[in-house]
Amino acid sequence: MEQAFHWFCRKCGFREDFGRSYYWKCPKCGSPLVISTGRRYEVSKGRGLARYKSVLPVTPLKYMGEGETPLVKVSEEGVEVWFKLEYLNPSGSFKDRGTSLSLSYARKLGYTTVVDDSSGNTAISISLYSRALGLKPVLFIPRTAPEGKKKILRFLGAELHESESRGAASVDVVEYSRSHPEAYYVAHTWSYFYVIGAATIAFEVFEEAGVPDYVIAPVGSGGLLLGLAHGFKTLLEQGLTTKMPRIIGVQGYSVQPVNVALKGVETPGEESWLADGIMVPNPPRLAEIVDAIRESQGDVHLVGNTEVREAWLKLVDQGFLVEPTSAAAYAALERLKTRLQGKSVLVPLTGSGLKIIPLM
Ligand SMILES: [Zn+2]
Repeated sequence: MEQAFHWFCRKCGFREDFGRSYYWKCPKCGSPLVISTGRRYEVSKGRGLARYKSVLPVTPLKYMGEGETPLVKVSEEGVEVWFKLEYLNPSGSFKDRGTSLSLSYARKLGYTTVVDDSSGNTAISISLYSRALGLKPVLFIPRTAPEGKKKILRFLGAELHESESRGAASVDVVEYSRSHPEAYYVAHTWSYFYVIGAATIAFEVFEEAGVPDYVIAPVGSGGLLLGLAHGFKTLLEQGLTTKMPRIIGVQGYSVQPVNVALKGVETPGEESWLADGIMVPNPPRLAEIVDAIRESQGDVHLVGNTEVREAWLKLVDQGFLVEPTSAAAYAALERLKTRLQGKSVLVPLTGSGLKIIPLM
């Protein structure tokens, strides 16, 4: 029998069939929602994310080249590093996987406008996909966002609303979506579409190379880490593998909510603004991130500007033109090399350097 998808709240038990309405958070208790199903993982014909449509709540309306990113294996001082080149997605980051799902769902439900609070990779991703899917993107960004970023977003057709700060943007966007029922609030830091989107990275890695011993991933709102954990766990639970990788989350010293939640205390260290893409002080899915790390017997590591810069230039030296945030995970790998001898380690390279270097 076909196992349908449904919205589900792990906190209060709210449950509703998926496909007719949209919630960016639980309508009963305000917690982050998941989209569950009992359907089995299988590989379908097609391109990109559509290959895994058996476990996707929505199939992308349009294939723009997202997914199927190259996996490059490099042997480094006794560690087998698997770089997944996520910066080669259409808008230059892994966010395109989640955006493709979320905006396809918006279109399917008949929304005409999408709104979000982001000035980073997600904003560019949402603007590009909106353009291609015939949606109007509205973005709430901090006034202090670099002019170059605003220029890219305006070029892509986004309507920009400038808020006093990052915090104010996340309040203003909710106010806007309340008074604009025609607008679909993407809420990427809350959205399960971004978790499921990132799970397809795990599926691709599994198909091509199997399950790695470790995953080292940068953690901001946690969509990437949770998606990888969810993807590998799906394969494990369905008996397709007997192995679950240990998951190591990487944050900067400047903003370290996952570290504090795991270890109970802030760890002092060098500032880390170079990894600005993971500076998310209050990720809505913090408890899930901590659970995923603990369950995989993983850990969290912190990095600072000096090692991020060194790791970033080392990646560029190898031909990977990524943004500094992407190098945070590689910087952590550098420090863990002795412990990881003889192990395979998946390191997603999350965002392109091409859009960030002109801003530095
Ligand atoms: Zn709830």
